[in-house]
Amino acid sequence: MGNYELTIGLEIHVELATKSKMFCGCATTFGAPPNTQCCPICLGLPGTLPLLNRTAVEYGIRAGLALNCRINPVSEFARKNYYYPDLPKAYQITQHDKPLAENGFLEYFLDGQLTKTTITRLHLEEEVGKSIHSGDSIIGSEYSSIDYNRAGIPLIEIVTAPEIASPKQARVFLEQLRLTLQYLGVSDCKMENGSLRCDANVSVRDIEGNPGEKVEIKNLNSFRALERALAYEGERQAVLLSQGKQVLRETRTWDEKAQKTVRMRLKAEAPDYRYFPEPDLPPLELEQVWIHEIASSLPELPLAREERFQKAYGLSEYDAGVLVRAPHLADVFEETVALGHSPKLTANWVLGDFARLARQGEVVSAQHFGELLELVSSGQINNNQGKAVLEEMFATGASPREIVQKKGLTIIQDLGFLKTVIQEALNEHSELVERYRSGEDRLLGFFVGQVMRRTGGRAEPVLVNKLLAEALQPGRNWEPHKE
Ligand SMILES: [Zn+2]
Repeated sequence: MGNYELTIGLEIHVELATKSKMFCGCATTFGAPPNTQCCPICLGLPGTLPLLNRTAVEYGIRAGLALNCRINPVSEFARKNYYYPDLPKAYQITQHDKPLAENGFLEYFLDGQLTKTTITRLHLEEEVGKSIHSGDSIIGSEYSSIDYNRAGIPLIEIVTAPEIASPKQARVFLEQLRLTLQYLGVSDCKMENGSLRCDANVSVRDIEGNPGEKVEIKNLNSFRALERALAYEGERQAVLLSQGKQVLRETRTWDEKAQKTVRMRLKAEAPDYRYFPEPDLPPLELEQVWIHEIASSLPELPLAREERFQKAYGLSEYDAGVLVRAPHLADVFEETVALGHSPKLTANWVLGDFARLARQGEVVSAQHFGELLELVSSGQINNNQGKAVLEEMFATGASPREIVQKKGLTIIQDLGFLKTVIQEALNEHSELVERYRSGEDRLLGFFVGQVMRRTGGRAEPVLVNKLLAEALQPGRNWEPHKE
């Protein structure tokens, strides 16, 4: 970037996980056959009236409170007027002058430093339908189909101040925001399904602090796309300015194939939305009691949990961060530790094979998991056997003790039995025994291998070493053990 500083602001749209839509009773299930979840209200047919979904407002308040915003006691819905085929009313109901929440912030760790980003506003609005073009875009497509299932699903739009300084910071912020909303249970935040979408405003300022023109980038539908698009755009603007050229105020889109931003339209061409208060909905007046109720029902948020994992359980910053970012793992970790198991041992196992096996999201119970840790830490089975048992637990749901019993996995510590096996191995390789006794110490490993092979790897290794060392002493000879 040379002599230029990057300034980034983000606008994030989040679909709320309500069962029904914002202004009608239609279902919001993702992936239903096209146009099976719509009615005259969400299709915007004349004569219909919107009826506000209380849960959507509650989720908006939850998100606003978790983002440390002031919740406005009175907010207002507005019409944003424009025509597009996916918007059958030719206006979108949103909030404009009086949003639901304002003036908040979100904190997160960036390279180990606690960092804060201002949330300027959070408002409610309705989702539009989905256009499906036969080609890559509407231009040049032979036809386009429209699915109105999505029209009217409740959204929140979250706007940050333009104070994010790098593409990496933007990604880390968005990851923390997504995690926070997931902890709140207000959205599944799946970028791949479009339930979390992000646009960015990017400008660069020169070394004297003169701000450059703002460019808006759309279509950032993955964390990787966000980071790459911002890096590309910052570089593009810096190069233009260093050549004495101008950065134009415009809206650009991220072209995933070409890995660059391309112009959609100049700002001068931007539509005037002619916002005005929505005449079919009264101002949204909120009772303080309700806001307090919602505030007291908020769960522990990711940052607080991360700090607690470090302080209460002595986990490293890294381990705590990984666990908290995977709530299904963090929950099993906490439940297992609550049963009295060591936090360090539990974390090691959860972050290792457990995390790999739980990738599909299914986990085994803390009860069973704790039982497995018990078997391993008491030496009844070794580490490798433990891993095999865990795999089986995920596959069958059986308890570790059942699996150990069924597979005969327990470690053999029976002295008599081990001595018999050892004697057999020595008898079979009497020549090597002599060589060991005349000084070839390294042959011990060979005999250990023999015993392990004969016991299917189940012999207790420390015991085998000790017994072998004894048996190989010059002049020693055991009688095979008789039961
Ligand atoms: Zn409907």
